[in-house]
Amino acid sequence: MTRVLVVEDDPQLVRALVINLQARRYGVDAAPDGTTGLRLAAARRPDVVLLDLGLPDMDGVAVIRALRGWTRVPIMVISARQGSDEKVAALDAGADDYVTKPFSMDELLARLRAAVRRTEELPLTPGTARVETADFSIDLLAKKVVRDGHDVRLTPTEWHLLEILVTSPGRLITQLHLLQEVWGVSQHDKTNYLRVYMAQLRRKLEKDPSHPRHLITEPGMGYRFEA
Ligand code: CA
Repeated sequence: MTRVLVVEDDPQLVRALVINLQARRYGVDAAPDGTTGLRLAAARRPDVVLLDLGLPDMDGVAVIRALRGWTRVPIMVISARQGSDEKVAALDAGADDYVTKPFSMDELLARLRAAVRRTEELPLTPGTARVETADFSIDLLAKKVVRDGHDVRLTPTEWHLLEILVTSPGRLITQLHLLQEVWGVSQHDKTNYLRVYMAQLRRKLEKDPSHPRHLITEPGMGYRFEA
């Protein structure tokens, strides 16, 4: 089954897309904002991403850049922005196609089929979901981390945290978001969990855990991954 990830904050449009895509036997996941979209892209491995540019939490172009840090999944922008600057910015960031709202559902579906077909014609490219740093590399599909030629063993919780951070390279991920995603709690007083697990991850991955280069703390706010 071809899986489509819809990243769009307009609930009516999401509903229309889900109905039309499911009627044509696509598997559909929907995300109402960029952070959730990046998370689902890592967790659900869509075959194609439909992406709105005007999202409540971040600009769609930043979502494209974040995705292109680790995946070549086809990205089709669906946007009300008609300016050629906007299109150039999205395509330069790594989008594969750009459809202007309002669009006809038939045209969108035809372009979607074309985008999926193009990837099916590509030779299998191993490592399309890899994150590389100078000190370690991560295979998001195999859920493997390699450092100095050796596999690094991570607990499921450590992996979950790392996956969230590395699929949004360069972005601040708030403590609250991490607590909700990983532990399902929304209390700030649980931030000691985060400190403990981040310290473990740094011990396993950073060359100098007390001066981390990749798993960066933003004091009082959260954490950021730098490749
Ligand atoms: Ca929007």
